[in-house]
Amino acid sequence: MKGVFKMEKITAHGVPVQRTYGRREFIKLSALASAGLLAGCAVNPVTGKSQLMLVSEDWEIQVDRQNSPHQFSTDYGTLQDEALGRYIQQVGAGMIPHTHRPKMPYSFQGVNATYINAYAFPSGSIAATRGILLSLESEAALSALIGHELGHVNARHTAEQMSKGTLMQAIAGGINIYAGTKGETYGQLASIFGMLGSGALLASYSRDNEREADRLGMTYMVNSGYGTEGAVQLMTMLNGLHKENTGAVSLLFSTHPMSQERYNTAVSLANSEFSYAKGQPLYRERYMDSTAGLRKIKTAIEKFQQADELMAKEAYDKAESSFKEGLKTAPSDYAGLLMMAKCQYTQKKYNQALNFSEQAKHVYPREAQANHISGLSKIQLKKFDEAVEDFNSYQNKLPGNPSTIFYRGYAYEGMGNKQKASEDYYQYIQQVTEGEQAKHAQQRLVEWGVIKQSGQ
Ligand SMILES: [Zn+2]
Repeated sequence: MKGVFKMEKITAHGVPVQRTYGRREFIKLSALASAGLLAGCAVNPVTGKSQLMLVSEDWEIQVDRQNSPHQFSTDYGTLQDEALGRYIQQVGAGMIPHTHRPKMPYSFQGVNATYINAYAFPSGSIAATRGILLSLESEAALSALIGHELGHVNARHTAEQMSKGTLMQAIAGGINIYAGTKGETYGQLASIFGMLGSGALLASYSRDNEREADRLGMTYMVNSGYGTEGAVQLMTMLNGLHKENTGAVSLLFSTHPMSQERYNTAVSLANSEFSYAKGQPLYRERYMDSTAGLRKIKTAIEKFQQADELMAKEAYDKAESSFKEGLKTAPSDYAGLLMMAKCQYTQKKYNQALNFSEQAKHVYPREAQANHISGLSKIQLKKFDEAVEDFNSYQNKLPGNPSTIFYRGYAYEGMGNKQKASEDYYQYIQQVTEGEQAKHAQQRLVEWGVIKQSGQ
């Protein structure tokens, strides 16, 4: 039984780098895509021109709904700091009327993750991590960041990639989104504590996409009343990070390619086409007030970022001290506690892992991921019945993660409850057909006479 956990490795950001999609999932995705085939030629909302679109708006909405909650949870949930969360939502909402697709179901979240990133799902679920929020210096810069993500949604870049087939291949092949980036070590280290991310969906913007999103972003923020200097601040910040190129930014730049040319183009746009909006306000103070709580724990967040990078280098004891330092400043930080729990788990210190994941549950009860780490720790400690409770709780908070079902089955197996274990294993292999866990589930189902042969 131990063998199952040998496959458990860690990703620094909790984003699965090599999610393998089984054939059934691929067929499901293909079916989804072809259900939208009737969309055929669609008018691009931005250019007004007709464009070959193989997926419909319904596909965009469905994919967003299915994936974004899991990605947010992987990023340690929406902000514990609710006032800051509301502020980000307000800034984003103020920009919607100025977009080309004002009727999309947008949402604007801050997420607790400490690495530096922002992303958008195809129907408008947009998120920025605490890491990037700390790097911004005004509301106008935040609006430029949100504007850029809105640009991707409005120009339908995910749908475009899907139609070109590149995204489909990426999804079917279980793309390694870190490949070719400096954060390659993350890729090798990789995989998950059973967290679902959406690497493939978020992985494939082209340089042209980036240029278009930059221009759209600037249009939206300027029309929303912000000064162009905010966009210049954002690009300067990104350019600086790009030159430093630390592990904390590798995902950001592998999804949103950065270059000197992109920086130059954006800055010259701000000074030419959009120069009329130079005098519009930046709302620097409002941003500083809203992020005061976040900036108060800046050193803790930096410690967590460092620890995250050390984890990626498998320097677990150094990572542990760095987490410890961070938690001194921010003892009830959900992300910090949970990252520490993962660090302990990786070092096979399961009692400690359980302790930190229990603390994480306590400080942020509605978020699901802590239940997963807690459940895994309990399995290792042979507290199988308690583990089942954790996976049930995860399933209630965030349904749709096959990994939860597998591990609940595994805990039932530990309890000797073959009936319940079979039900979960059977459900699991309906969704995932490849990997160690699917193999384990299939083997047991064959042994127990539930199915005839492995893979059938
Ligand atoms: Zn981008």
